[in-house]
Amino acid sequence: MNKNIIRTGLMSLAIAMSATVFSAEVHWDYDDTGTAGPSNWGNLSPDFALCGTGQAQSPINFISGTEVTAELKKLKTDYDSDGLNVQNNGHTIQVNVAPGSTIKTPTGKYALLQYHFHFKSEHTVDGVHAGLEAHFVHMNKKGKLGVLGVFVEEDPEGKENEALKTILENAPHDIAKNTLTEEIDVEALLPDEKIEHFWHYTGSLTTPPCSEGVKWYVAQKHIYASAEQIEEMAALVHHKNNRPTQAINGRVILSSQDDD
Ligand SMILES: [Zn+2]
Repeated sequence: MNKNIIRTGLMSLAIAMSATVFSAEVHWDYDDTGTAGPSNWGNLSPDFALCGTGQAQSPINFISGTEVTAELKKLKTDYDSDGLNVQNNGHTIQVNVAPGSTIKTPTGKYALLQYHFHFKSEHTVDGVHAGLEAHFVHMNKKGKLGVLGVFVEEDPEGKENEALKTILENAPHDIAKNTLTEEIDVEALLPDEKIEHFWHYTGSLTTPPCSEGVKWYVAQKHIYASAEQIEEMAALVHHKNNRPTQAINGRVILSSQDDD
C-alpha cells in the first residue's frame, strides 16, 4: 500500500480519535443533585444533545404482557475467554476483549468489543431493578452497535460467580487499566450459550452521547453472583451508574418465543 495513503489514513484516524477523546472529556456523572447528572446530560455538550431530545433512548422498563411476542432465532454467543484488560474508566468497570468473539442475532452477526457493568440494572422489569446488569457491546461490519444485556441477581446460596471473581480481582480502584494475565470464565456471565428468551428493541447508548440505532437484546433469564460480589462491584462504581429508564414513545418491544 502507498505510504501516503497509510499516512492520510492514520491522520484521519487520529483526528477522529481526538474528537472522541474531546467529547469524552466533558464531565458527566450519575448524580442528579448536581448539574452533570442524567437529566442534564443533553445540555452538557452539543455532542450529547440526543440524551435530552432523543425519542428512542435506553434503558427502558419492560412491562409484562405489553410486549409483542415473536418467533425470533436464539441468540448464539461464541465468546473467547481471553480478555485484554480490565478498565476502570470512571463510569464503569469494563473488560476489553481481543477480536474474535461474536454473537449471532435476529439482526445479524456482531463482533464483541467489550463488556461492562451497571449498578443497579439499567433496564427494569415491571419497575424492578436487578442487582447488576452486564452489557456486552458489539459492532457489526457496517459499524452498527448491538448490545446484549444480562441481569445479575444475588445467589440465594451465596455462591460466587467465577467470571466476576476474576474481573473484581483485576479491576483498578481508580481510573486505570490492568492487563489480564488469566482467562475469564465468560460463560459464567451468560444465562446460556444460546439465549432463547429475550426482549428485543431499538434504543440507544445509555451513556453520553446517547447515540440511537442500537439494537438491544436483554436476556430474560438471570445469572447469579454472591451479595458480596454485587456490593464489591457497586463500591467500584460509587454505588450508582445506571441511567433512569426512558420513554418508550410507541416503540415496539419484542419478546422472543421458542423458535423450534
Ligand atoms: Zn452499559
